[in-house]
Amino acid sequence: MRVLILGGTGDARRLAEVLTAGSAGGSDAGDSSGSAGASAGSAGSAVGRPGLAVVSSLAGRVRSPVLPPGEVRVGGFGGVAGLRAYLRAERIAAVVDATHPFAATMSASAAAATTELGIPLLVLRRPGWTPGDGDRWHWVPTLAAAAEALPGLGRRVFLTTGRGGLAAFAGLGEHWFLVRSVDPPEPPMPPRLRTLLARGPFTLDAERELLREHRIDVLVTKDSGGAMTEAKLRAAGELGIPVVIQSRPPVPAGVPVETTVAGAARWLAAVRGS
Ligand code: NAP
Repeated sequence: MRVLILGGTGDARRLAEVLTAGSAGGSDAGDSSGSAGASAGSAGSAVGRPGLAVVSSLAGRVRSPVLPPGEVRVGGFGGVAGLRAYLRAERIAAVVDATHPFAATMSASAAAATTELGIPLLVLRRPGWTPGDGDRWHWVPTLAAAAEALPGLGRRVFLTTGRGGLAAFAGLGEHWFLVRSVDPPEPPMPPRLRTLLARGPFTLDAERELLREHRIDVLVTKDSGGAMTEAKLRAAGELGIPVVIQSRPPVPAGVPVETTVAGAARWLAAVRGS
């Protein structure tokens, strides 16, 4: 049985580990979600038996990605038609969409192509964040709305929306931005900007120090969810810094969702059993 994991997240990588290593794959190393937990190992043993081939797919956005075990392909499929052709040619029997919660185009393509071919599809999506007592979170639907909200909230901005989202802030010449990304950002981007090239996880202490050092007065982020990136929100809350947070696009209608790697592994075991 050939399984396609649509990746680009820590959970996608960990699911590949679980499925290729059997019971040994439940490691929390490199956790980006905090959702896999120790139980992933036992779920992995349920499906990690001979006869399961795992192909992970990456978009190819990051120059030096941390690769999952098993077969890896890189690059877009060419829309729904391209993905459909790929699924047929590669005899894929099940798909797990473990892309980032904001990778809505890929998720829509996966839903359309698998529906047309009658291939089981699961979305693996870690839970979103919820504010704690005293947190000042401003939910916005788009990054453009985040940019509109900034003038009323602060001038020194910590922007952690990924380098692909900088264009929305390019018109804000009065603000200073600290941008953290894995690869260097490219224009269009705000004129007053400092780049921090880094790959998480980041500790609460380090995030608190970063916010203080750069005198940040507002944080902009997406509701990505997960423990690895949560520390910045906790640090902002402690320091009384407001947060502008983009809400998630919906999961395509009718597609089942699991929030943990263990749950996704169980779903695959059930699909395989049937
Ligand atoms: P997107 O807008 O949904 O996807 C744009 C196009 O990129 C898709 O139509 C598809 O091209 C290709 N693509 C996306 N994910 C792919 C995958 N796993 N394998 C093969 N092709 C893929 O996605 P995005 O927001 O640009 O994100 C790109 C990748 O970065 C995703 O894999 C996602 O998991 C990861 N990521 C995204 C974010 C974020 O904030 N958006 C954050 C962290 C990681 P075709 O139409 O040609 O098939």
